[in-house]
Amino acid sequence: MTATYPHKKAKALKPSSRRPAKELCSECGLCDTYYIHYVKTACAFLNQQIAELEAQTHARSRNLDCPDEVYFGVNQTMMAARKTEPIPGAQWTGIVSTIAIEMLDQGLVEGVVCVQNTQEDRFQPMPIIARTREEILRARVNKPTLSPNLSVLEQVEQSGMKRLLVIGVGCQIQALRAVEKQLGLEKLYVLGTPCVDNVTRAGLQKFLETTSRSPETVVHYEFMQDFRVHFKHEDGSVETVPFFGLKTNQLKDVFAPSCMSCFDYVNSLADLVVGYMGAPFGWQWIVVRNQQGQEMLSLVQNQLETQPVRSKGDRHQAVQQSIPAYDKGVTLPMWAARLMGMAIERIGPKGLEYARFSIDSHFTRNYLYVKRHHPEKLASHVPEFAKRIVGQYRLPE
Ligand code: FAD
Ligand code: SF4
Repeated sequence: MTATYPHKKAKALKPSSRRPAKELCSECGLCDTYYIHYVKTACAFLNQQIAELEAQTHARSRNLDCPDEVYFGVNQTMMAARKTEPIPGAQWTGIVSTIAIEMLDQGLVEGVVCVQNTQEDRFQPMPIIARTREEILRARVNKPTLSPNLSVLEQVEQSGMKRLLVIGVGCQIQALRAVEKQLGLEKLYVLGTPCVDNVTRAGLQKFLETTSRSPETVVHYEFMQDFRVHFKHEDGSVETVPFFGLKTNQLKDVFAPSCMSCFDYVNSLADLVVGYMGAPFGWQWIVVRNQQGQEMLSLVQNQLETQPVRSKGDRHQAVQQSIPAYDKGVTLPMWAARLMGMAIERIGPKGLEYARFSIDSHFTRNYLYVKRHHPEKLASHVPEFAKRIVGQYRLPE
């Protein structure tokens, strides 16, 4: 390829203009590359275009008359799965890393965009283009902080690579899809994870110090389907803290403004999504969005145990009650939080209904955030599917 691309000139931009989304920037990495040239149309926080990009990626946007698609996006199938031999040290059972390794080993791709951590800090993300299974394995486990995954895109073009897998969260994938045609690739595969409540590295420190008994030894944590945060420590012990016991009054500002205004929890534009929230405890949740996603999943099917997704309970009352409680920063004493956690675990929403509970709780909170902090963006930034979800609830002013 010899043409001079217009985006390559964009490097001359002044540093002050390099994050046009300003406080809403999620540090997705696009603006660290010459693809910043496309930022005004590509950035998820400047130009919400999920429906258009769904049509580009999946040949149709989600069907707003289908309740499951309103929540989970365009999909062919959903299932619960786990690896029969989990990868030690992975976030869950390592389905994401395993798919990436198979794609590389079987020659479907030449490289994989994924996130390792720096040598000094296990939670400091370091995006790379992995070319070996060892490099992919070193990227296993969540770095629960904003990660500039797209910052390596220039290297893709420079390397001459033509077949690429990108692993990433919703905001990264929205920007990626918007510039996909400029990357000079023959084939792009996208393996997404759901994502919510992400933080800067400093924000993560505050969260750990406010919530865990031993912040410096946490190696891994997750907000689980049993309504508790599970912290895994260096010695292998697991500490659990009920959601209702979180110090909401101190944590209200900890989540990044980008995540407080995000409505792409389920990564609508990936070919295949691997999370946990629609699956029973201990299992992963798989959403196959298109044929390419099915092809990716098929590569590891023989390494998985699967079961159908299920749904139980009714989330609406719990979501409605949580809206003013979060808004006022209500924090329960730990004994009461544990009691409430046990009760809701027994009778509360399960499976896909738990996923809907989590989506409803975050979308209502985020809708209020955008309405209060960026009212001029409300109409265009909130996608139609999210407006329908939020419309089920009474919100404070
Ligand atoms: P592994 O095999 O351990 O691989 C993890 C992969 O994640 C690696 O390939 C790595 O490149 C990538 N990664 C790590 N950190 C980041 C990052 N900061 N940005 C982008 N990519 C990263 N699932 C839910 O169902 N609900 C949630 O609310 C939810 N929140 C999440 C928040 C974050 C920040 C992340 C990264 C993931 C979240 N997930 C969520 C997905 C879930 O936690 C697991 O990542 C997923 O189920 C895959 O598990 P695994 O064992 O197969 O992954
Ligand atoms: Fe740029 Fe990404 Fe930040 Fe938007 S979110 S301003 S595209 S780095």
